[in-house]
Amino acid sequence: MATIAERTAAAAAALERLGAGSISTDPALITKVSSDWSRMSPILQEKVPPGRYLADVVVRPARPEDVPAVLKVAFDHDVPVTPRGAGTGNYGQATPFDGGILLDLRGLDTITVGDGGTVTAGAGARMTAIDRVARAAGRDIWIFPSTKSSTIGGFVGGGSAGTGTIEKGTTSDGCVVAATVAPMDGSGETVTVRGEELIPYIHTYGVTGVLVDVEIRTDPARDWTAVYAAFPSYASLVAVHRSLLDLPRLPRLASADEPALVPTLPASVALDPQLHSLRVIAEASTVDELTDRIRGGGGEVVAVLADYTETDRLSGMSYNHPVWFLQRSRPERSFFHMETSGAPLWDDPDAVRAVYPGPVHLHLELFKHGPGAMVVAGYRGEEAVLAGVPELEAMGIGVHSPHQWYVDRHVELAIETARRTDPKGLLNPGKLTATPPVDTRVNIGVR
Ligand SMILES: Cc1cc2nc3c(=O)[nH]c(=O)nc-3n(C[C@H](O)[C@H](O)[C@H](O)COP(=O)(O)OP(=O)(O)OC[C@H]3O[C@@H](n4cnc5c(N)ncnc54)[C@H](O)[C@@H]3O)c2cc1C
Repeated sequence: MATIAERTAAAAAALERLGAGSISTDPALITKVSSDWSRMSPILQEKVPPGRYLADVVVRPARPEDVPAVLKVAFDHDVPVTPRGAGTGNYGQATPFDGGILLDLRGLDTITVGDGGTVTAGAGARMTAIDRVARAAGRDIWIFPSTKSSTIGGFVGGGSAGTGTIEKGTTSDGCVVAATVAPMDGSGETVTVRGEELIPYIHTYGVTGVLVDVEIRTDPARDWTAVYAAFPSYASLVAVHRSLLDLPRLPRLASADEPALVPTLPASVALDPQLHSLRVIAEASTVDELTDRIRGGGGEVVAVLADYTETDRLSGMSYNHPVWFLQRSRPERSFFHMETSGAPLWDDPDAVRAVYPGPVHLHLELFKHGPGAMVVAGYRGEEAVLAGVPELEAMGIGVHSPHQWYVDRHVELAIETARRTDPKGLLNPGKLTATPPVDTRVNIGVR
């Protein structure tokens, strides 16, 4: 049998004849798009460094109908296909382990606001552009990640949470209304998937089908305000952070950092590196109540900025971003992070920090049911990182490890669905298994 590279070359020639998207074998492009942001994990830096796993060809569809056409040709030639948006996924989940076609979906970037207030976007549309169009139509999209320049296909296919999550949960909690999906079953067609049937297509890294477009829910637009506050102690910070869950309207985002993470935050106002930082995207009508609580709790209101772009800046300092800013500022040191959730992050931070040799830093986020945190520490090897997981769990902390690339949400359902939608196992190979060789438990609770 021909090698994957030979089969891919034959498929590429067939696609060229069909005119289904642009095709590139440029080595520099292939190297670039065969990698993602897995470099944030020192473990993945070793396991999936750029250049180790390379696609044979990059195919960039220009029209929605190109996607099923590409999958049909790939199916007929037994060629693996790995879908990719902006490549900001940080688990290595867009790495083309078996080579083949890297399907670059960024050309599918149409955005339409529907009569019912939903927004339908091509898989490659950027969340920034979708939010811009939605806001111009007087709507708020439910959730977007801190990597706002990422694509909707990548966010639904590989992301999870972000600005909006406090109220709306994750991408699995109703923000997706419907999706047009191209299966890898030789049909050369697409199907529309809605409601509960969407579950195996969300956060499953494209292993069940390629999202061609996605329809998402919106709400009437609200006035959002960026509020910066500073606190003298972790306890005073936490007292206000936890109180945000009973503000009259939930905030869109509430990120907090210990002083060690503050100097590298690209804030639009000066932040005191001695103090704990709280940054809230608050509904305008709740700002007075919020600032009263900050002052009443011994904190200082650093700035109240009503411009929507300022709220975007706060989004850009949330979730994994403070970890990345720290990593970027100290290239000589290797930091790792663990994604966690649970009340001990508020109540017993010293016990959490004690799990790893110090110094250990906490970046907090707020979920509907309590806090989440990136626990950040110096890297001392994979074994030491993973040894912390049971210790965190023993104290009631939910953990999601960002150091592995296996589908870890609705795995059984994804396997059952893929049997039908990808019978040859050609979609994003190596990501879907019932028996991953590493710890992929997910009990972070945010789902
Ligand atoms: C600093 C930093 C901060 C981050 N913050 C957040 C955050 O706040 N919230 C969050 O959820 N994530 C976050 N992420 C992870 C990631 O940036 C987001 O999930 C992002 O939305 C992924 O979109 P993308 O276009 O870059 O996807 P990609 O990285 O290109 O792809 C992600 C996954 O989806 C698959 N995929 C891509 N397109 C499709 C498609 N059309 N159909 C099917 N599968 C597809 C890919 O194969 C891959 O498995 C962060 C990452 C970094 C590095």
